[in-house]
Amino acid sequence: MRAALFTGPGNLDVVDVDTPEAGPRELKIRVESCATCGTDAKIFGHGHPRLEPPQIIGHEIAGEVIQVGGETSGFSIGDRVQIIAAVPCEECWACKAGKQGICINQTSMGYQFGGGFAEEMIVPEAVLKANGVNKIPGDLSFDEAAVTEPLACALNAQRLIRVGEGDTVLVMGAGPIGCLHIRLARALGAKHVMLADINGDRLALSANAVKPDRAIDMSKEDLEAIVSDETDGIGPSVIITAAPAGAAQEQAIGMAAPGGRISFFGGLPKDKPMISVDSNVVHYKELILAGANGSSPAQNAEALELIASGKVPVADLITHRMSLENVRDAIDAVTSGDAIKVVIKPQGVTS
Ligand SMILES: [Zn+2]
Ligand SMILES: [Zn+2]
Repeated sequence: MRAALFTGPGNLDVVDVDTPEAGPRELKIRVESCATCGTDAKIFGHGHPRLEPPQIIGHEIAGEVIQVGGETSGFSIGDRVQIIAAVPCEECWACKAGKQGICINQTSMGYQFGGGFAEEMIVPEAVLKANGVNKIPGDLSFDEAAVTEPLACALNAQRLIRVGEGDTVLVMGAGPIGCLHIRLARALGAKHVMLADINGDRLALSANAVKPDRAIDMSKEDLEAIVSDETDGIGPSVIITAAPAGAAQEQAIGMAAPGGRISFFGGLPKDKPMISVDSNVVHYKELILAGANGSSPAQNAEALELIASGKVPVADLITHRMSLENVRDAIDAVTSGDAIKVVIKPQGVTS
């Protein structure tokens, strides 16, 4: 079968590999849709400490069950399914406390396990054990189902900072994750949402889709003045930084309302992880800062339901569909901001 094999930084080629067979405690799926995200670009550029090449990458996966191991239960050939990306061990203290996102033995699809940029893929035993295979409801498309995983990550972040009724929300970073954060915040009851980016073209593309109450082009406009104005001088009750920029994190702490909750959703580059913070601002404003790392299987199930029910629509965020052979172009489109969400179609693109 054909698969996109990562063999080291800068090297991702679509090649012929052996077609995998499911073991007794595994499923095999025909991959119908695997969405690309910023993490794929990061892996392509720099590799990842938990990923030993060569490996088939791709972790936002939806497909159809085509082989069922004899010792599995609950799944049949022909089931349409969505697969989790981060795989919790279900044994450690974090998993037992229901905090699978910070599992200390976490593995991931496309890292330790072969991923979804391939015609076929094995769903490993660990994923089944963690309830990480969700049946796609009704006639929801594979493409939309593939966006479940990033939405689950956004859901994890917004739960940690308790986004809810009446919040004023600023999302910094207008990539696909920023778009999902805007839509999710609305679904959770936020009353005023703002989207900011330093890339005017990316902002225009995303704002046109998710229609925030205010889009702020940081290359031309004064972010802090506008945000203050939009919030009657109080500041946003919630700020989510969905960009790999320390400056955004620093600005977030300065702009948040007293009692504000901030999510550092996007990680910073490995070589630039430090930021400068006036700790007294955090102290006197009683700010709550939270990180966010992946999502739990339960959050994946919930995210799929949010999409299927129409509470968080994603169809219009999928701006491009590409064949497996074009996976490098897909990653470029995500990096440049020319696309919102790009879905790879390993079985071929049909119009
Ligand atoms: Zn992703
Ligand atoms: Zn664990």
